[in-house]
Amino acid sequence: MATLLQEILTNNHEFLVNNKYTKEISKYPQKKFALLTCMDTRLVELMGETVKSLLLTIYVFDIKEIFIVGHYDCGVALTSSKDILHNMRSRGVSEQQLKLIEKDFQVWLDPYTDPAKNVLTVIKKLKANPFIPNDIPIHGLIIDPHTGKLDLLADGYKET
Ligand SMILES: [Zn+2]
Repeated sequence: MATLLQEILTNNHEFLVNNKYTKEISKYPQKKFALLTCMDTRLVELMGETVKSLLLTIYVFDIKEIFIVGHYDCGVALTSSKDILHNMRSRGVSEQQLKLIEKDFQVWLDPYTDPAKNVLTVIKKLKANPFIPNDIPIHGLIIDPHTGKLDLLADGYKET
């Protein structure tokens, strides 16, 4: 089966041979902000993986602002747990295995139907999270992928 691996390695080789990697990039965030987009925003429970990563950026990498950026016309908003489970079934995942994840996928995917509403929900959850300090503003934006226009949905600090 053809994969992209060889193409990626060839492109990387050409990139290096043509000396395009001219500037070492710092491992520390220079703009001091964290950005959550589409899929990230589904994992913002109190101590979900996304929140743990955010806490790392805040307390270790000195992040000063959080941006939640959703996008209109989100492919995930148009699907459901039923669809993904159906596709898994079609690709050979057993009923026994599907039963183990069905509930989890319903909770994860099915409430997500409106990207703008999702951004606001995420902001509400992050503002309620006691581990995110009050001096970090949390901004909510949504981008139109067809025009690139950003709409501001919310900004500001946690209420104290
Ligand atoms: Zn999306």
